[in-house]
Amino acid sequence: MNSDRMEQIVSLAKRRGFIWQGSDVYGGMRGTWDYGPLGVALKHKIMQEWWSFWVEERSDMYGVDAAIIMNPKVWQASGHVATFSDPLVEDLKTGERYRADHLLKDSGVNAEGLSNEQLTAKIKEYGVKSPNGNELSEVRNFNMMFQTNVGAVVNDNSVAYLRPETAQGIFTNYKNVVDSFYPDLPFGIAQQGKAFRNEISPRDFVFRSREFEQMEIEYFVNPNNWQQDFDSLLSSTYKFLTEKMGLNANDIHELDVPEEDRAHYSKKTIDIEFDYPIGREELMGIAYRTDFDLSNIARVSGKNMEYVDKNSKEKFIPHVIEPSFGVERLLMAILSTAYTEVQEDGKTRTYLKFPDNLAPISIIVAPLLKNKPALVEKAKEVYNQLRKKYNNVSLDMSGKIGKVYAKADEIGVPKVVVIDFDTIEKDGQVSVRNRDDASQIRQKADEI
Ligand code: ATP
Repeated sequence: MNSDRMEQIVSLAKRRGFIWQGSDVYGGMRGTWDYGPLGVALKHKIMQEWWSFWVEERSDMYGVDAAIIMNPKVWQASGHVATFSDPLVEDLKTGERYRADHLLKDSGVNAEGLSNEQLTAKIKEYGVKSPNGNELSEVRNFNMMFQTNVGAVVNDNSVAYLRPETAQGIFTNYKNVVDSFYPDLPFGIAQQGKAFRNEISPRDFVFRSREFEQMEIEYFVNPNNWQQDFDSLLSSTYKFLTEKMGLNANDIHELDVPEEDRAHYSKKTIDIEFDYPIGREELMGIAYRTDFDLSNIARVSGKNMEYVDKNSKEKFIPHVIEPSFGVERLLMAILSTAYTEVQEDGKTRTYLKFPDNLAPISIIVAPLLKNKPALVEKAKEVYNQLRKKYNNVSLDMSGKIGKVYAKADEIGVPKVVVIDFDTIEKDGQVSVRNRDDASQIRQKADEI
């Protein structure tokens, strides 16, 4: 783990207004994060790129935006009420709670796919203690859904949950999409939105949060063709991660999840892992979920979920392949790919090398000095001109060019345009500084 690099990224993200601890002013709230102006711009760009790539540019995808609070039957049918849990251990002295598999992993013991009894045995075998050095309890399940009550009466019948995944809002609308749009198989339904999990120990910056954003697709297929559709979604995922999100293929790894670690209904799951500064961890996953979800809905709701093939008139419940992305984990991969330190003139220059399509600010325009009206006027004129061509152009009137460059580097602005005396007195050309190599060229503003 490169904790130094992680700390640098977290500190830059805070200092420059990307991401702050949630409710910071009141001492914070674990597992929650607030996005500042640059963070929200980056997050929106990630989500917009995803929506364009997976929904708008394809003819086989339908978008939905379902309610966050759903009928609790959804979570009973899906198995979440009974089994959406993580293994919990307690520090026997302080009462603090931890995830048993994480404590084992931190002690170098592989805990993938173990039952609670096996985890307890491993903790004993390796003498694993709590981070405070105390003995640990037996391992038990802890359900991660946030519970609430809907309506004015608080009783067992008013219990509802904040959704722990966006996927069920897709499954519950499968029939609506089929009835309104008559899509041919295979087709997908996509949704982006908040998900909530009461993680036992949120950690690693936004990587494991209690409130986060998912982007999920349920791709409905004929079971005879599942492998082909799975491979096609996997290859699109690589294309998206490398071409749209600018991640390096070398940092992306496929983990073909072994049967004993997969959900019982899944015939194949690939976790896409990424080399984060915190280590190699899950970025997203693609799972072949068979007809598990639609069959459960049919069973519990009594509604028919069968698809009728338009040619053969064959009736069957489609199978599903689910690519599931987490925005925060993508954002962390993008930040850690972009974070660059170079030695220049005996000093360290730090910059975020965002791909152009993701940079929260595309260009900063600045006058060389702030107290020269002609420079200021020209800067405003160039700024207005560039705004017609590019989104997110910013004007910096501080007149401190060294500082403007340093800030632009740290927030990942690809180009800084400076208006100087030559611009107004000579040739109308401006200085254009390039973030990645700090080189400067002179150019007509309307040719940028
Ligand atoms: P993990 O094993 O790391 O807890 P998971 O396998 O439970 O993750 P899924 O249920 O497959 O995750 O959720 C799909 C995606 O949602 C994950 O690949 C990840 O990108 C994102 N995600 C899940 N939990 C969190 C969280 N607590 N914070 C941020 N993103 C999350």
